[in-house]
Amino acid sequence: MTEPAAPGATAAAPAGTPLLEARELTKHFVVHHKGRNRRTEARRARRVPSDHHAGEEQPAEPGLPPAPPEDQRERPVVHAVEQVSVSLPAGGITAVVGESGSGKSTLARLLARLIVPTSGQILLDGHAVPASSRGRRGYARDVQLVLQDPFSSLNPIHDVYYHLSRPLLVHHMARRGPELDQAIASLLQRVALTPPDQFMHKYPHELSGGQRQRVAIARALAVRPRVLLADEPVSMLDVSIRLGVLNLLAGLRADDKLSILYITHDIASARYLADSIMVMYAGQVVENGPAATVTDEPAHPYTTLLLSAAPDPDRAAPPALAGRGAPPSLVTPPSGCRFHPRCPHAMAVCAHRTPPAFEVTAGHQSACWLHTGGLSAAESHPLAGRADGLVPSPSAPAPGKEP
Ligand code: SF4
Repeated sequence: MTEPAAPGATAAAPAGTPLLEARELTKHFVVHHKGRNRRTEARRARRVPSDHHAGEEQPAEPGLPPAPPEDQRERPVVHAVEQVSVSLPAGGITAVVGESGSGKSTLARLLARLIVPTSGQILLDGHAVPASSRGRRGYARDVQLVLQDPFSSLNPIHDVYYHLSRPLLVHHMARRGPELDQAIASLLQRVALTPPDQFMHKYPHELSGGQRQRVAIARALAVRPRVLLADEPVSMLDVSIRLGVLNLLAGLRADDKLSILYITHDIASARYLADSIMVMYAGQVVENGPAATVTDEPAHPYTTLLLSAAPDPDRAAPPALAGRGAPPSLVTPPSGCRFHPRCPHAMAVCAHRTPPAFEVTAGHQSACWLHTGGLSAAESHPLAGRADGLVPSPSAPAPGKEP
């Protein structure tokens, strides 16, 4: 389906339209085996008869199949993101939670248009992003990405003034001189690096991790974006300064009505900051709903695993589901429900049929077969091999309730 292109960045959207929306985004990365291919090609080249003419079909060599045309070669792909839909309302904070390799950072890069989706759509104000360079520049101004690592996202040979002046000058937000100085001072004040004069001419190595991340956020704010994609913005910071950066993001939402996509592996911080939580596993969304509902009444066993692994000073017993396996390969992901090799509730149906998103309560969805009543006895039979303490007792706990 082709969406009408936005006539401009400020085009009015109908009431209720999400500010930023992704529809069924999929991203597959082709796996290249460069070294092996080069050697194979060299072997093939050596075996080409000397009287072979360009354009002629090469005969099959003993022990070496003929090379198929480049466009017909099947290469393995990494299924990084599959059929992910997300919508960010204006002034809302949505958290994307999952382990490493769940596809959440790829999703952020797709939304920032740093990489091209294999399929799916990205809409800003309900419109597809115009293909023109002006349209792309407008999108880049509206949607800014803050990266995880404040150590590598700032150039060590430039000072804070340089880092903040670049976007202001490139996007014609300020002119050199007093206007630029004032704009940079104002940005530093917004991220609580005060007095600005003390920070303006410092180099990254002269700042703490938290101060560096604040500079990175200030740089993103320089172009007055409407959406901030924050990719694990606190995961590389000391625990003691994480709260300050989270509160800074909350303040930006409250004061500037910024829409924020907060990407994290820490479901506790997602609960603290976000209005809604989307849980991803192996490139797919497995649960989605209001933050309080997802964390208080998780409906997917993977969300329960994440919650049980979150630090909890009140919990006397060790995490109930900790240590049950690892995320799967995204080159050959498990069939059916991708979580089934790790799931303590896995049933026969889970191994070969992908669960759709079931509406658990209003606005709360879970992609898990436990939420349908339409399974046959054979389909709902505990999965063969679900042993080693993973087979639930007859009084198996419902998802969300720790056993
Ligand atoms: Fe997946 Fe089945 Fe476990 Fe639900 S019960 S999470 S569908 S393996």
